[in-house]
Amino acid sequence: MGIKVAKFGGSSLSAAEQFRKVRAIIAADPTRKYVIPSAPGKRDKDDFKVTDLLYKCHDLVQQQLPFAEIFGLISERYLTICQQLGLTLDLKPELTAIEAKIASGASADYTASRGEYLNGRILAAYLDFAFVDAAAVICFDEQGKFDAEKTQEILGRELARYPQAVIPGFYGATPDGRVQTFSRGGSDISGAIVARGVNADLYENWTDVSGFLMADPRIVNNPKTINTISYRELRELAYMGATVLHEEAIYPVREARIPINIKNTNDPDAPGTLIVKDNGNIKSPGSITGIAGRKGFTIIAIEKTLMHSETGYARKLLSVIEDHGISFEHMPSGIDTISVVIADSQLNNKLDELVADIRRVCQPDAIEVFHDIALIATVGLGMAYTPGIAAKLFTALTGINVRMIDQGSSEINIIVGIENKDFEEAMRRIYAAFVPAEENSVTNN
Ligand code: ASP
Repeated sequence: MGIKVAKFGGSSLSAAEQFRKVRAIIAADPTRKYVIPSAPGKRDKDDFKVTDLLYKCHDLVQQQLPFAEIFGLISERYLTICQQLGLTLDLKPELTAIEAKIASGASADYTASRGEYLNGRILAAYLDFAFVDAAAVICFDEQGKFDAEKTQEILGRELARYPQAVIPGFYGATPDGRVQTFSRGGSDISGAIVARGVNADLYENWTDVSGFLMADPRIVNNPKTINTISYRELRELAYMGATVLHEEAIYPVREARIPINIKNTNDPDAPGTLIVKDNGNIKSPGSITGIAGRKGFTIIAIEKTLMHSETGYARKLLSVIEDHGISFEHMPSGIDTISVVIADSQLNNKLDELVADIRRVCQPDAIEVFHDIALIATVGLGMAYTPGIAAKLFTALTGINVRMIDQGSSEINIIVGIENKDFEEAMRRIYAAFVPAEENSVTNN
């Protein structure tokens, strides 16, 4: 019998009724042995996330302001869940101890981690699973860097003692017992680490959507769900802003070749999206997997006669950019031209100085700056080595001014730079070109 690790996000564990759904999901499949909870999320759009409130408590303590009122909201949230689930578990003494520790200046990481810790205690009691504190099995080193090797060893050994367990997400501890969290949304990472630690057959990531969509539904009307996607494709789409899963959650399971299934707690029968290692089998040549994009880039285009035969020209250009502490996104080049695409968030009023320095160091014949650029990535393993893909894409963009084209060497993505104002229209046209309306109801791959 295989092992599944199931991580449930904040919206899946926001209230007693959600805990009931989670219990039904766990009960439906005995291979779901290890469960990673987030802290309670929002119950509706005006609600608060417990983690946000915990950070707020910490901030108030730092400013020597009272935080009892906010902590009261947190306590009430957990106590109501326990009461509505009919649990005998009494969290009051723990809540009192945690409040006292926060009052005495506990770290932001410790304070925030209590959201997952307390939800884990409740979930373990409700499922009748063992509770394994993440501080005992997820290890960071003295410098606060995640220690994959030590964690792997301890997790494997510790969890082997329990046939079923709940391990809170988001945090672990340093060798001296200091609680440390991952970055926000980090329970996804904890789930991936546990999946790797127990050598799971599948890492299920339960959330409130039925998987990844092929395009942003705020732009494209009713886009299809992606049934299967490779880690590589996901990385390309996530870079362009398509997010459901914390990016760092991919590495632990990718290395161990454990697939991830994004599932919906509110619709558990929907297949969701399966993220797999790409095995080179292209099931649908010519098809795309998804489209994602972002606005807010600047292109600096440089021209210099005989640039292509001048050794070190690109290095000079890049070192100017580096000296300004700027990281760039893309660098498409022609024979005597080179362009650098930079996110506006990186430029922060440094553009004029940067351009002046490029002029001084690189002595170009011409330098032009294009503002308000959006990038759109069209991604799919099915695009690789398939003739006609670029033609289809650019036919779809007829009449839209394409400022930049960049095709990754793996041929699984084509990125185009267009003006911000054309962004939504371009997304819709690309989607329509690759996913004809009559196919919209058919799932891909
Ligand atoms: N509760 C944490 C956060 O809000 C971690 C998580 O939910 O994954 O960032």
